[in-house]
Amino acid sequence: MPNSPSTFQRRSTFLPFSPPSISEEEIAAVVETLRSEWITTGPKTKEFEQLFADYIGASAALALNSCTGGLHIALAALGIGPGDEVITTPITFACSANVIEHVGATPILADVEPETLTLDLQQVAQKITARTKAIMPVHFAGHPAEMRPLLDLAAQHRLFVIEDAAHALPAKYEGQMIGTLSDFTAFSFYATKNLTTAEGGMLTGAPERIAEARLWSLHGMNRDAWKRYSSEGSWYYEVVLPGFKYNMTDIQAALGIVQLRRLSEFQARRRAIVAQYQAAFSALEALQVPVERPNVEHAWHLYTLRLNLEQLRITRAQFIEELKARNIATSVHFIPIHLHPYYRDRYGWRPEDFPVAYWEYQRLVSLPLHPRLSDADVADVINAVYDVVSVFRR
Ligand SMILES: *Cc1c(COP(=O)(O)O)cnc(C)c1O
Repeated sequence: MPNSPSTFQRRSTFLPFSPPSISEEEIAAVVETLRSEWITTGPKTKEFEQLFADYIGASAALALNSCTGGLHIALAALGIGPGDEVITTPITFACSANVIEHVGATPILADVEPETLTLDLQQVAQKITARTKAIMPVHFAGHPAEMRPLLDLAAQHRLFVIEDAAHALPAKYEGQMIGTLSDFTAFSFYATKNLTTAEGGMLTGAPERIAEARLWSLHGMNRDAWKRYSSEGSWYYEVVLPGFKYNMTDIQAALGIVQLRRLSEFQARRRAIVAQYQAAFSALEALQVPVERPNVEHAWHLYTLRLNLEQLRITRAQFIEELKARNIATSVHFIPIHLHPYYRDRYGWRPEDFPVAYWEYQRLVSLPLHPRLSDADVADVINAVYDVVSVFRR
C-alpha cells in the first residue's frame, strides 16, 4: 500500500508498458506451423476465423494482417469513396482517420464525451450532412461507445456503422459482445493489444459483407490461394475488383489460436490489476480514474488516468518524466487526430475545435496494464504514482 514520501523505494529495473504475453504453447504452435507444408493463409487461418467468430458470437469473421486493413476494406466493401463523409472521433490512433483518406472520402470529427472519451452522440448528430455515409466509433481503452443511441441515429439517417474495436476484445454493450452489433467491426492483434499475433486483425460482420471484404483483402481474387494449390484446387481464378493485400498468415493464426484460448485468463488478470489501481488512485484528489458504466463490460485494454492539473505543480509531460525516473513506463493515448500536422493543415482544424478532446488530451496518461504484471509490479506502479503526487502536490 501507499508509502509516505520518505520511504519511497525506486524499483531496480524499468517496468515496460505493454510487453506481449507469449508462452511456450504459442512458441510450439508457431514452430509446428513453420515445419508444416503451408505457412501463409491456409488451414490455421480458417480455423482461427471460425474460433474467433464462435467466441464473439459473430456470424462471420475475416482474418487480416492488421486492424487498419480491416477498417480500410470495410469502407471499400461498403462502397464509400470520393465525395462521401465518415464521422469519427479525434481520440484515436491515426489509422482510423487515415483509412477514410485512403478511400478518398472525408473524415469528419465529432468531439467526445468527457467521461469515457468515446463519441458524443449530440456532436455526431450535428455533423451529419447529405454526404455522410458512415459513423466510425472507437471503443476507447476498451470501454464501448454508447452503441444503442449510435445505432438508432445511424438507422434514422441510413448510415453504415464501422466499429474500431482495436481495444475492445472482449467487451460487451448491454449484454451483447462487441463484434455483433453493426455492419463491420475491426479488431487488432498488434503486439500491445489484449490478444496478439505480432501484427494482425479480424473483421466481423454478416456473411455476405465478410465475403465482399474477403475479395478486397486479397487482390480481388474470387478463390482462396490455398485452395488453388490443394488437391481439390484449380489453377483458375478471376480478379473481380482491384483488391489489396491484407491476408493473415498461418504462422500468425497459429499464435492467435493459442492466445484466444488464453484470453479469459488474460482478462481476469487485467481486471484484478484494474481493481487494485482503482482502489489506490480513487483516493487521490490529484487523479481522475476511468469508469466502467453499468451497461457495459470494459475490455480494459488501457488504464488511463487523468491528472487534475490544478492540484499539481507539474504538467502531464513532467508527470511522465517523473514516473520514468522511478522506472515506470507510461504512454499517452492519444494525440488527437486534429493536432497532427497532416489533418490540422488539410482541414484547418484548430485545437479548440474539439474542446473536450483537446482539454482531456493534456491531462491523459496511460499506466502499464498487461497480464504479465506481478502484484509486486502493480505495487511499484502505485507507490511511484503516490510518490510523484505527494512530491508535486500543490
Ligand atoms: C492499435 C489500434 C489500431 C490499429 O491496429 P493495427 O492492427 O495496428 O492496424 C486502430 N485503432 C486503434 C484505436 C488502435 O489503438
